[in-house]
Amino acid sequence: MRGIIIINFVKKIFNFSNQIPDKHSEPTLYPRAEHCISRSQISENALKVLYRLNKAGFDAYLVGGCVRDLLLGREPKDFDVATNASPEEVKATFRNCRLIGRRFRLAHVHFGREIIEVATFRGSEEKESDDQQTDTEGRLLRDNVFGTLEEDVWRRDFTVNALYYNIKDYSVVDYAGGMQDHQAGLIRLIGDPLTRYREDPVRMLRAVRFAVKLGFTLHEDTAKPIGVNASLLASIPPARLFDETLKLFLSGYGVQTFEMLRHYDLFAMLFPDTDQALADEEHEFPRMFLIRALQNSDNRLAEDKSVTPYFLFAALLWEPFTQEVVRLKEEGQNDSVAYQNAANTVLSRQVKVTSIPKRITQSLREVWLLQSRFESRKGARPYRLLAHPRFRAAYDFLLLRADAGGADPSLAEWWTSFQNASEAEQKQMTSSGNARRGKRRTKRHSAPRSASNP
Ligand code: ATP
Ligand code: MG
Repeated sequence: MRGIIIINFVKKIFNFSNQIPDKHSEPTLYPRAEHCISRSQISENALKVLYRLNKAGFDAYLVGGCVRDLLLGREPKDFDVATNASPEEVKATFRNCRLIGRRFRLAHVHFGREIIEVATFRGSEEKESDDQQTDTEGRLLRDNVFGTLEEDVWRRDFTVNALYYNIKDYSVVDYAGGMQDHQAGLIRLIGDPLTRYREDPVRMLRAVRFAVKLGFTLHEDTAKPIGVNASLLASIPPARLFDETLKLFLSGYGVQTFEMLRHYDLFAMLFPDTDQALADEEHEFPRMFLIRALQNSDNRLAEDKSVTPYFLFAALLWEPFTQEVVRLKEEGQNDSVAYQNAANTVLSRQVKVTSIPKRITQSLREVWLLQSRFESRKGARPYRLLAHPRFRAAYDFLLLRADAGGADPSLAEWWTSFQNASEAEQKQMTSSGNARRGKRRTKRHSAPRSASNP
């Protein structure tokens, strides 16, 4: 320990910021006085788990996103614990514990709605030529050997995600140089970036997600391989990409995330049809619309309001949908058939990339199909639309379209007034007596051939 502290002292004095620690480096220890993590910021349940493991004779650390977020003074989403106790030993220590996972067994300790995830340290590659296997592209297939904290470090993705808070003395243990990167605001992959992306291409998406969420920069070695290797994401199961997509776009920084994903050619791997639709830079609307929709979600999340995945996907896929509607109408299909068929085509293509649960595609489809019904403002139709369970979402969607120049603003205004009007006013607004009857053509604000307003 004394040796480590001396090395630590020397490292700190000379600030070896360019030196990347390797597997044989000594850890740097940051005692309690040298970092800002206080127990008052840690969930009581996480503390209970850490202390109980310690008392039972095991090492117990907070690790990953919670340490990273605590160092920024932010409230972590959840608390993850790493220990040298085996999953069975963890289970034996807690009554409220369940073991989960096949590839790598984890213990979940339940406290009402809060779950503290306890993972046994994972072992090093050298030790497990049989147990840790990669496929022909270098992707990790199995990853299930237990090890020590020192070995566990090198399995994690980014240096700032590999900091361990030791409950024994409240110090932070840093093998990978995460503390310096944290202070410098850098997202840096541990180890050789290309190898790490090949092992798990989702790390490219995670790099973007953390950079945006934390306001950090991607280290150039971590950023460089992304563009040319984005296509590796094609091998990731659609269910995992769906989960990642939600994390990317529903974390409150959707606009920046979108821009950064596009910058690194990653957006095309998640929404190929949308990306293609955006390629036509002559038409401003598609990009404007997406930015407004994402900004709208970000604002709602900042106000602690809910954001639904179906609304998000409806916006993200709107442009390919409307382009398909236009194409089908040109082929002679009538409005409602074209809308149905376009929805089928776009969704069946998208679910091959990011699977979308049925309940989400159903609601999303309703939001799309209701857009055409806003045009009818006479007789009983507006009342029927108003009573539709998906009216509110569809109306919000219409406002976004109008705001971005893809629908007639007076149509949106009409619906705003209609909802707030008295019974008598509503009757007057919908009576066919005055001027226009039936469908009113929407004025196009975007370029004439834009599909945004099919
Ligand atoms: P947040 O929960 O705020 O999104 P996080 O860093 O906690 O961020 P998780 O997905 O909860 O992210 O993962 C917890 C930790 O597990 C990470 O901090 C990282 O150390 C490790 N980890 C997760 N996914 C990977 C991966 N694909 N490759 C390597 N390590 C990973
Ligand atoms: Mg986490």
